[in-house]
Amino acid sequence: EETDLVGLAEAIVQGFEQRPDLAGIRFARTFPEQVPALPLDRGAIGQALFNLLDNAIKYGPATQTIEVGVRLEETRASVWVKDQSGGIPVHERERVFDRFHRVHTGAVHQVRGSGLGLAITKHIAEGHGGRIALTCEEGVGSCFEIYLPFGGKERGCRAEKTGAVG
Ligand code: ATP
Ligand code: MG
Repeated sequence: EETDLVGLAEAIVQGFEQRPDLAGIRFARTFPEQVPALPLDRGAIGQALFNLLDNAIKYGPATQTIEVGVRLEETRASVWVKDQSGGIPVHERERVFDRFHRVHTGAVHQVRGSGLGLAITKHIAEGHGGRIALTCEEGVGSCFEIYLPFGGKERGCRAEKTGAVG
């Protein structure tokens, strides 16, 4: 399926922007101007990006700027989301991708969730031959990036441990 990744990201961001309950959230986009159509499952990648934005909103402050971007590299594209939450403690960074795992601090007690979103998102990334990484430092927000290699397989480098600090 040929997918316009920027168009897809834009549509999902706009969906959140139109929600009246999210009036305090600003979205800052970093999208390249020219992105070729990519062989990606539009529904799945849309779901993955939705999950990351949903988390950024749920676990970040009600008033914040969420950065969302698409990056184009030689052998892969990526889509990333960065929020202004308290971030994720280092010792939790691998486990947040486990099914049903929720971090037992702060916001999680006030926020509903089943602990499946990131497990599904990771599954989608890997289904495209890619991976998901958690790339931000504790205390400066959370940043998740989904790498999507062209040709459906990450070449030239072995898969890093997910949850590794970038
Ligand atoms: P669901 O997505 O199924 O509704 P959930 O949001 O709890 O439930 P995940 O999306 O898998 O599940 O996230 C797992 C846990 O990781 C969350 O409960 C939360 O503790 C932590 N987490 C996820 N995203 C963020 C974020 N952007 N900032 C801080 N913590 C996060
Ligand atoms: Mg979630």
